[in-house]
Amino acid sequence: MGLFSFLNKEIAIDLGTANTLIIYKDQVVVDEPSIVAIDKKTNQVIAVGKKAMMMHEKTHANIETIRPLKDGVIADFTAAEAMIRGLISMISDTSRWFRPSLTMVICIPSGITEVEKRAVVESAERANARERYLIHEPMAAALGIGLDVEMPEGHMIIDIGGGTTEIAVIALSGIVTDQSIRVAGDEFTLDIVEYVKRQHNILIGERTAEQVKIHVGSALQDLETPPEDYPVHGRDLLTGIPKQVTVSYSEIAGCLDKSISKIEEAIMKALESTPPELASDIYRKGLYLTGGGALLRGLDKRIAMKTKLPVRVADDPLRAVVRGTGIALKNRDRFTFLMS
Ligand code: ADP
Ligand code: MG
Repeated sequence: MGLFSFLNKEIAIDLGTANTLIIYKDQVVVDEPSIVAIDKKTNQVIAVGKKAMMMHEKTHANIETIRPLKDGVIADFTAAEAMIRGLISMISDTSRWFRPSLTMVICIPSGITEVEKRAVVESAERANARERYLIHEPMAAALGIGLDVEMPEGHMIIDIGGGTTEIAVIALSGIVTDQSIRVAGDEFTLDIVEYVKRQHNILIGERTAEQVKIHVGSALQDLETPPEDYPVHGRDLLTGIPKQVTVSYSEIAGCLDKSISKIEEAIMKALESTPPELASDIYRKGLYLTGGGALLRGLDKRIAMKTKLPVRVADDPLRAVVRGTGIALKNRDRFTFLMS
């Protein structure tokens, strides 16, 4: 490292709908929900990430929480930029005296438009990026799984994030086919809110519903190792006062069934539109799942039954994309698929 290496930092960013992660010096140094809290009077950012998430759905008239990315696209440019800045400033050894210039690789959803791409690049530049590259999410996911993306061999990657499920086939350093549907983790959460309202007559917020999903979420009505029933607190729609009910994984499997079927359909379509030589690779190797949605109990098994193909969940699927983005950062001189 040179004498002035502290003046330049190399970072990899996974800009996700639900979570934004940053790798610096081979470590995940930022792993925060993609959300900012804004003072509506002054337009100042009050908090980003976890701190802002704690305020979510608990705000008053003067504070607004914003999730700048929705459905895999940037819904609010100003908030997105504030969030990127805020998260970069969390990297701990930022000097008080020097604002280091940054070399960064940013992973973006592949459904992103040119205008949005431009917005990400401009945000990066305003955050003091000297060199910046973009990488499409399926490519980063494939690298993060540990696949050799440069080989003449097809791999199908299914990334189930917050806003979108991306299904891509990768070979020879490129994305051969790519489909994105707006059914993923957020939709599962909304299914749970709706279900609890309809079935149990209580109103719950998004964050409670997400906890239900994590504790008793399931893609299958019958699990080999079932989780225990989970107590849920919300507002009784009839009396208006707080109430507790208990939900089981099989009722959640029932309420998620429709959304999961949509993901299955998209996978079947992607398989049908895969060129035959690549399809034969995929039939041999199977499908890879990444993203937080891959953690839903029984989802791998359900997709395996539907497609009759082996399905593998990436190690630590929530971090596969940022790991891959970190690999891209290190190999930025070699990887031709990086966009500048
Ligand atoms: P993004 O890349 O869009 O930011 P992530 O890959 O970070 O998304 O995944 C976030 C999604 O994963 C959220 O919808 C979250 O609720 C969901 N998730 C996280 N953990 C689990 C879990 N254990 N079971 C089911 N879903 C989960
Ligand atoms: Mg993601």
